[in-house]
Amino acid sequence: MTEAGTVFTTVSVMMLANGGVFAVVSRDLPAALRPAAAYWQLGTMLIAAGCAVFAFGAPLPRPLMLFAANGLMAFGLTAYYAAVQRYDGIRPRRWQLLPAAVSTAGVLWFSAITPDFRIRVAIVSAAWLWLMAASVATLVRRSRGDVSLSRRILAGLFAAVMVYLLARLVIYLLMGLDAGFAVESGANWLNMLSPVVMTVLPVVGTTAFLLMCSDSLRRQLEAAASTDYLTGLPNRRSLARHGRKSFREAEDRGTGFAVAILDIDHFKAINDSHGHDAGDQVLVDVAGHLHEQAGHAGMVARSGGEEFVVLLESPHHIAATDIVERMRLAIERARFSAGPARIPITLSAGVALYRPADRSFEDTLRRADQALYAAKTGGRNRVETARFAVVPAKTASTGDGTPSRHMPAAEIPSARPARRVG
Ligand code: GH3
Ligand code: MG
Ligand code: MG
Repeated sequence: MTEAGTVFTTVSVMMLANGGVFAVVSRDLPAALRPAAAYWQLGTMLIAAGCAVFAFGAPLPRPLMLFAANGLMAFGLTAYYAAVQRYDGIRPRRWQLLPAAVSTAGVLWFSAITPDFRIRVAIVSAAWLWLMAASVATLVRRSRGDVSLSRRILAGLFAAVMVYLLARLVIYLLMGLDAGFAVESGANWLNMLSPVVMTVLPVVGTTAFLLMCSDSLRRQLEAAASTDYLTGLPNRRSLARHGRKSFREAEDRGTGFAVAILDIDHFKAINDSHGHDAGDQVLVDVAGHLHEQAGHAGMVARSGGEEFVVLLESPHHIAATDIVERMRLAIERARFSAGPARIPITLSAGVALYRPADRSFEDTLRRADQALYAAKTGGRNRVETARFAVVPAKTASTGDGTPSRHMPAAEIPSARPARRVG
């Protein structure tokens, strides 16, 4: 066996071993990632087989050996391209097989019919470069805002192999090689380097691809842990994280924020008369309306049960109250139904604006909760705002012990237990 043959044997064994380990590991991936992983594994196995043909194909007629080896590698790269597409949920198209098919046919033609090494290497390089450029484009296009390092590494690996292939093509063309030049022989230093470079994707690339899969898994788990399963809104955990961030920004940069708690009125009665499933559907529909009304003004979360929290970046309490009032009105006017029965829905809300005296986000939230209590005791289907100014209790009280709608939040007795978020 030639020196280059030894290198081809070594790299194909490395690739096969990598493909084998990848096959075992990828069985544990979630169903959504498995098609991408299957394509990646196919790519690795095809490229490994291509290298093996270069290593052991000497007994075969030379055109057949070149046809098989180049074909396996080109279709292997096509599978890699399909893998990065499937990772992003893109369905690979049949025409994507064309570059590999054309280059494989070209190799056969220019080795069996009119042998020409230069045309052969140009056709093969063109197909490989196209497939890798397409893979890089897919990885880069979808990575805006995606900070995944493994994705960038994989794009970098494809790009590095592309640069090598381009340089190799130029050098081969400049060398003025004859038609019988054999890449699998040790006659040229490039012939020794090429199989080593070809291991970059099946070996290092496979590791980067696996890391990409585990990164996607991590993000899916994170998203699931911060999303409410019923409504798809951010949940209490997510609210606590965003709320604390808004609070820190308000403290550090003097930006304001407002928080509102919205609670569906007499929701228990809806469950009792229409059933729990109808109640669930109402929650989903209310969540949709609130999300739509909030638009870009802020974030709506389901903090639990039939209670929603809106975190508004608006620093003015009039603006914040207006937005929440619009939400209340939208719910009052919306049609909710359980079968033929129409279910009238209203909600009460308490709004609180961040004030420097608040020691934590929970303090601001607690004041919103107190304002909500005022809205409930004040007759429901209304929005109350916790005010800054402390008005003497006597003038604001209704006199019968129930807090007035106009009573400032600081003065309203905390009948509902103060709650913690997160
Ligand atoms: P109020 O106007 O004072 O807010 O009265 P309410 O009936 O809305 O409040 P209460 O706290 O008495 O009842 C809330 C009900 O919400 C009780 C509970 O069964 C129901 N609930 C909580 N979570 C869910 C859920 O995920 N789905 C359904 N269908 N019901 C829920
Ligand atoms: Mg309620
Ligand atoms: Mg409630």
